[in-house]
Amino acid sequence: MNLRFADRMSLLGTESAFEVLAHARRLEAEGREIIHLEIGEPDSSTPQNIIDAATRALNSGATHYTPASGILIAREATARYVTRRTGVPTAAENVVLVPGSKNILLFVLLSLIEPGDEVIVPDPGYPIYRSLVSFLGATPVSAPILQANDFRLDVDHLRGLITPRTRLLIVNSPANPTGGVLTRDDIEAIAQLAIERDLVVLSDEIYGRITYDGEHVSLYGIDGMAERTVLMDGVSKAWAMCGWRLGFGAMPVELARRMDTLMINSSSCAAAFTQLAAIEAFESPDSDTAVEAMVAEFRRRRDLLVDGLNRIPGVVCRRPAGAFYVFPDISGTGWNERDLQRALLDEVGVAVLAGSSFGPHGAGHIRLSYANSMVNLERALDRITSLLRATPAAVAPA
Ligand code: PLP
Repeated sequence: MNLRFADRMSLLGTESAFEVLAHARRLEAEGREIIHLEIGEPDSSTPQNIIDAATRALNSGATHYTPASGILIAREATARYVTRRTGVPTAAENVVLVPGSKNILLFVLLSLIEPGDEVIVPDPGYPIYRSLVSFLGATPVSAPILQANDFRLDVDHLRGLITPRTRLLIVNSPANPTGGVLTRDDIEAIAQLAIERDLVVLSDEIYGRITYDGEHVSLYGIDGMAERTVLMDGVSKAWAMCGWRLGFGAMPVELARRMDTLMINSSSCAAAFTQLAAIEAFESPDSDTAVEAMVAEFRRRRDLLVDGLNRIPGVVCRRPAGAFYVFPDISGTGWNERDLQRALLDEVGVAVLAGSSFGPHGAGHIRLSYANSMVNLERALDRITSLLRATPAAVAPA
């Protein structure tokens, strides 16, 4: 049968990480050895105390549907966690638990955005923002996140992007793909602007626990922001739980109710045992210790990778203050980022992502994840160096 697809399907983008991973797996099936630096998830295992909590939950019957927005004790624990992290008194009714924080993004857009609206998205930024905004017939407006500004949103520039059609501002700190972190001054300036221009903000803080130089500042926590901010977070990155699929949002109650309806109409609920395991993630000191150990290890890897990349002629790499990505400028090598992504994978077996798959302002950069061992990072650096040495600017593809 010839399936006829709805027009809107052509508006959806993708995450190139999944595509590059699929290509890398094909090469591996042919016997090639690939170093995976395209991945967007911690390489460590979920802390054992959280796995034990999930096992206990399953053994005590957490195998049924739950209320759509989550089991009450799990929502309460999430609310306490948000209050602790942001200082904003947050109740269970402000919190929605979903199968992955991506759903919070989708539900915010479905709840608030009409075709023709404008949504300001970071560029380069997590590609799903742009994809879902377009899918709903709205226009993603790029807010440039530039190396020259230390990969921080330029608030003066942002002011000029706001029009009468702007309905939502998406902010992501610490950021994918740059590792950039907004300072307290940046966050306060964004908050002031949002209040002045009466904007709703989606603050994606999924990497909020992974910072290296100072505390993460939450937009949700700034005075006057909780009533106009959706805090989007989850257990995926902090506790290495990507495959468990549990995200959460903290938001005004009337929006949380809309999300409850959307959950009833889609997933029904997040898996019961992952919700109960999340309580252990949020509340056990052992879980905090695990996060600290992971971040300390990421810091060593970040430094190794940044120093190694900066030794390669033509490569300029900032030392990011958060997440587990570096986003070097490779334009001085003579390569463009897409050819370099392909050559690194096909010729020397290193999987990375072209910066332009995160938005037009990512051109001239590649993203490398350091969620991989020190040994593999060193091997990857050797391979990248050898490819770039063998093809200096003069002979690199244009
Ligand atoms: N937001 C950003 C910036 C991400 O990089 C990711 C995953 O890579 C997500 C959200 C989605 O996370 P989750 O696993 O909670 O759906």
